[in-house]
Amino acid sequence: MLKISVLTVGDELINGEMSDTNTACIARALSAYGFALRDAQSVGDVEADIEEAILGLCTRRDIVIVTGGLGPTGDDLTARAAAHALGRRLVLHDDALAQIRQFFARSGRAMHPRNEKQALLPQKATVLPNSCGTAPGFSLRQGGCDLFFLPGVPVEMEAMLHASVLPRLLERCGDLAPGRERVFKIFGLHEPKVEEIVAAAPLPEGVHIAFGVDFPLVHLKLRARGEDADTLLDRAEVPVRRALSEHIVAVGEETLAGNVARLLSASGLTLSLAESCTGGLICARLTDISGSSAFLERGAVTYANSAKADWLGVPAAVLENDGAVSEACALAMAKGMRRAAGTDLALSVTGIAGPTGGTAQKPVGTVFFALATPESEQVKGYLFHGDRNRIRTMAVCMGLEWLRRYLVGRQT
Ligand code: ATP
Ligand code: MG
Repeated sequence: MLKISVLTVGDELINGEMSDTNTACIARALSAYGFALRDAQSVGDVEADIEEAILGLCTRRDIVIVTGGLGPTGDDLTARAAAHALGRRLVLHDDALAQIRQFFARSGRAMHPRNEKQALLPQKATVLPNSCGTAPGFSLRQGGCDLFFLPGVPVEMEAMLHASVLPRLLERCGDLAPGRERVFKIFGLHEPKVEEIVAAAPLPEGVHIAFGVDFPLVHLKLRARGEDADTLLDRAEVPVRRALSEHIVAVGEETLAGNVARLLSASGLTLSLAESCTGGLICARLTDISGSSAFLERGAVTYANSAKADWLGVPAAVLENDGAVSEACALAMAKGMRRAAGTDLALSVTGIAGPTGGTAQKPVGTVFFALATPESEQVKGYLFHGDRNRIRTMAVCMGLEWLRRYLVGRQT
């Protein structure tokens, strides 16, 4: 097994300004190929610290992946520290310079002379292409250790990890049985309940389960190794789907919103949204998905009573007697939106996200949803728990889930 370490560089990572997501990203990518990270550390933008860390790692590890500090500014010190640590000179690499120049030419911007610094790399470094940024990465071989230096910017780092680092790892250790994972995203059940249900499902031998949470969704991860890992996961998927059925809201890379968007596109139905306490977040989740214009006609954030009356025609009597957070109001919002937009479907949400605004009858977390469809209207209230952020996150998911259930229901 290759001994692999990650070193992330940047003051922002050790002063609490920013969390280190690069290590997690690398760890996930490695485990998908059956590799595992031995350890990880972060150091600030201090040349001596970077140097010391590299020096220590290259004698103990087969693979060292360093991210950050390759930029053009004075606090980007990784290349120099690597050169010192490994006893090499810093030299101008023509191919690195050409890559930087090309990047600026492609993006139509003038190159600042300081960017030339990014082509100063340790002697005998191999330049790694960076298709989405200025900083070329590089790799070095020192004794038995392969060191990779990648930019700190997460998207650039990840692209280069896949393009340059993982192929080299597979070359060094080609007989690995890659681990495969299939994630089921579950709504409406807690982890222990999911575990209990899945424990009763007959999973094929060699399939292991793990859990994760992306509030409010529980992620059930099925894992298998070896040549026939995919076949094993296919076989495991059948009983898992049967056991958790309607609670599975998305599988794999797909999100709940992505699933709703796919179902809406396939249905040919159009949608409008009338949001109050979610402030347009449901609309934002759906418009995150490219192609959403095929079904989304409009979304309105009708926060004040006046907006609910003006834009959606919610009757004054409803606002006065039932209040803005009520079944009657949610229903009037959905019906009014469907009428105004002329869409097949209209979803409304109105609630109290808190921390203020709750009453004994309508505590913080009270949220009503209504869905108006060509066939009928449904409306229902829920009581969600937690702070403002959690209540709104829950409301966004529930709104999307209402759409998903309606669309799935239509198919059967
Ligand atoms: P460049 O300066 O050309 O953007 P760089 O290699 O010098 O590239 P850094 O300056 O170290 O990269 O980091 C750039 C930005 O990337 C940081 O401001 C930070 O937002 C983000 N970043 C860096 N390291 C990490 C990390 N480990 N996890 C998450 N984000 C990171
Ligand atoms: Mg930095």
